[in-house]
Amino acid sequence: MATANEIARLDKFSAYEAVNFMFDRAADLLNLPEAERVILKRPFREVKVELPLKMDNGEWRVFNGYRVQHDNSRGPCKGGLRYHPSVDEDESRALASLMTWKTALVDIPFGGAKGGITCEPQAMSSDEKQKLTRAFIRAIGDFIGPQQDIPAPDVNTSQQTMAWVMDEYSARYGYSPAVVTGKPVHLGGSFGREDATGRGVTTITKAASRAFGITLRGARVVLQGFGNVGSHTARLLHESGAKIIAVADAHGAIFNADGFDIPALLAHAAINGKVNEFPGSQPVAPDKLFEIECEILIPAALGGVINGEVASRVKTKLVIEAANAPVTAGGAAVLEERGIPTVPDILANAGGVVVSYFEWTQNLTEFRWKEDRVHAELEETMLRAFGETLQAADKRKVDLRTAAYVLAIGHVAAATRLRWMQ
Ligand code: NAD
Repeated sequence: MATANEIARLDKFSAYEAVNFMFDRAADLLNLPEAERVILKRPFREVKVELPLKMDNGEWRVFNGYRVQHDNSRGPCKGGLRYHPSVDEDESRALASLMTWKTALVDIPFGGAKGGITCEPQAMSSDEKQKLTRAFIRAIGDFIGPQQDIPAPDVNTSQQTMAWVMDEYSARYGYSPAVVTGKPVHLGGSFGREDATGRGVTTITKAASRAFGITLRGARVVLQGFGNVGSHTARLLHESGAKIIAVADAHGAIFNADGFDIPALLAHAAINGKVNEFPGSQPVAPDKLFEIECEILIPAALGGVINGEVASRVKTKLVIEAANAPVTAGGAAVLEERGIPTVPDILANAGGVVVSYFEWTQNLTEFRWKEDRVHAELEETMLRAFGETLQAADKRKVDLRTAAYVLAIGHVAAATRLRWMQ
């Protein structure tokens, strides 16, 4: 049993150290030699750029942009662009590494990357965001491309942001829809990409509920985050009969023991820009959200929100990591000790990158898939990865996260060896 000191030590890890801690646990099981560990852990390229921007009020400000390319042994790098004050080298490295393991686990032909701009997009006009996005793409243009590195949406970036990425890149390198995914359908985006991550989270939640003896119909769900991932997850789980009893966004948290009317909550959030003050809801202190008793807890906002201390207070039977890295290494250790199964991010939220792969494929072949095909292939991919992870966990007697890393690292290590190590 991990001591309080050990949990506290694990919780002090930076985001990148935490991913590498998970990596090492799995690498030990694979008996991976030291040289291979170094190659697989470290990003192969990191780009940091300075982005001066004249704001609407005439003042100049200088932003930092990052693109970290972690691994490309299985295909071009793939990963989102995040616009948030927390974006830095360490966070981008951690998220890029997660993308390598995620694409390998669901077995799509990509490596991992991540990046973004350190900024507060809520305080910026659409014009400022457009100019900043275009400046960023001009600065990193030589390092991305349909066969090199393909960005996608993440926190605070949208279909519109991806449209600017495609337009700016295409102006310099020629028409290139496959340089970015998560585009609007009018610009070569795929049907089914907008809700793909939430749809994948829902598929995994259903499968995990079955595996761990939870009846989804009537199951109480607590959800943090009501953006792209959270809102579609809420909608689809609600349609499946689950009861979403608490929802939080950046402005606050709300509760209703009977479960929310999710279509009405979506309409409320669209009009008001927040979930707060939804008729019939009780406000909840955001730091009490994770203590609400439920069958399924879904963090779908930011990283690091369930640390060791929070994990000791959760009252749930299942955690689904819809966000990237929402559970710290200390939090994971506590959940494991408490016997609360946790479906890791690299599996739970992989639906977005799976449909991004379908979008990239459609762009390269210039052939559009029908929405039903996207949904069916997404479901098949997610269920296959879930089944393989569950089986590996069972066989090795480890938690789902370690099992997922073992499978993913095995795929990337094999590709690396075959390409240039033997
Ligand atoms: P988003 O910007 O659309 O939404 C983020 C949501 O989190 C918003 O509702 C925001 O209000 C909320 N939020 C922010 N800070 C919060 C706080 N302190 N407390 C509670 N809520 C807070 O972002 P998204 O695309 O939905 O991404 C959410 C998470 O899912 C991120 O971790 C992202 O990396 C991950 N993810 C996204 C995708 C995708 O396709 N968009 C794919 C895989 C993983």
